[in-house]
Amino acid sequence: MTGEEEAVPKLKAVGFWRPPRKWPSPRWLVNSDWELENRGRITRYLRSGSVCGGALGYSWCRFHCCRAHPVRMGSCERSDGIWAWPEGLAHYIHKHNIMLPDAFIHTMRMNEWRMPAGNAERVADWRSTCGAYDYEPWETWAFQYKSWYVFW
Ligand SMILES: [Zn+2]
Repeated sequence: MTGEEEAVPKLKAVGFWRPPRKWPSPRWLVNSDWELENRGRITRYLRSGSVCGGALGYSWCRFHCCRAHPVRMGSCERSDGIWAWPEGLAHYIHKHNIMLPDAFIHTMRMNEWRMPAGNAERVADWRSTCGAYDYEPWETWAFQYKSWYVFW
């Protein structure tokens, strides 16, 4: 022990499309060829994250033609100790074929597509000592796919 406390870093936000900021639209990110062989693993990984925060209500699907039930979209945020995402993100992968940043997929692969041991405790620790997200890399990544054919 050095006696020095290590600062708990912010979690990297991914998959957020909420106001008040002008977050990206999932419609920009549709790519039916992306990570085809790993889709199931990615969806399971997203659903198994430890709860790291809650929203004020159930989310809704941003694809208006979709009839996903709000309960399916979830109301909380989940984390693997490095990244944080809204619970409904799995639905966008599963039903709407959206892409996620390679760096996030890299973390999943390093974790062998499972939550690492002790994840819930690590996330609880982050919550009590830091509790903040870093949105900037996610926004920068997603905005490079901005489509002018999409109005929201
Ligand atoms: Zn949907």
